[in-house]
Amino acid sequence: MGELAASKWQMPGTPVPEPPPPTFASWMDYLQRTTRSERMVRCYAAAKKANRKRLLSGAPNNRLSGADVWNVIEAARGRCAHCGSLAVESRPSSLTGAPIAWAQVGRRIGSLEHVHWRFGGGDNDLSNLAWACLWCNTWPSERRPHALDHGGFYPSERGFLPDVNMAVRTADHGDAGFTVMGWTAPRAASNVPRWSLS
Ligand SMILES: [Zn+2]
Repeated sequence: MGELAASKWQMPGTPVPEPPPPTFASWMDYLQRTTRSERMVRCYAAAKKANRKRLLSGAPNNRLSGADVWNVIEAARGRCAHCGSLAVESRPSSLTGAPIAWAQVGRRIGSLEHVHWRFGGGDNDLSNLAWACLWCNTWPSERRPHALDHGGFYPSERGFLPDVNMAVRTADHGDAGFTVMGWTAPRAASNVPRWSLS
């Protein structure tokens, strides 16, 4: 039991196994390969959790619905507000359903974040909610745009720039796409020599 608890909560800096490949290749892939009811199940669970009273904070003033949570995820297109990783996977669990270690894929697991912590007086106002990967949500010191550890995954997505706080805002915008974590989308066709025309 102690061993399980230790493996569930890995501190930043603790070596973790190589992450498995991402479950979803992109936000669109997530939408295509999950059903609406599957997605809503997780939204209801997140809303229920956010509506609970906690040991050190009373019941929130605003009650969230599953649809509220979905709006947060959809606005972020599943990206973590801090590192920008596509965070739509769920926590891994064992065959018995028991939670298991998740640190190696922590940047791919989605979670509802209270920007201003509930413990510090933050409430369930929509303006106080963000979508964050579980790693950034758990360890504020680990909030680094485009971090590649803990399974961080940044698929390119035309026309959408994750709303992370710094480097990405100055990323290279071209009509062909944008730069994400050093990976540049293919240039526009107009930049490619048109040998066939000569
Ligand atoms: Zn993150």
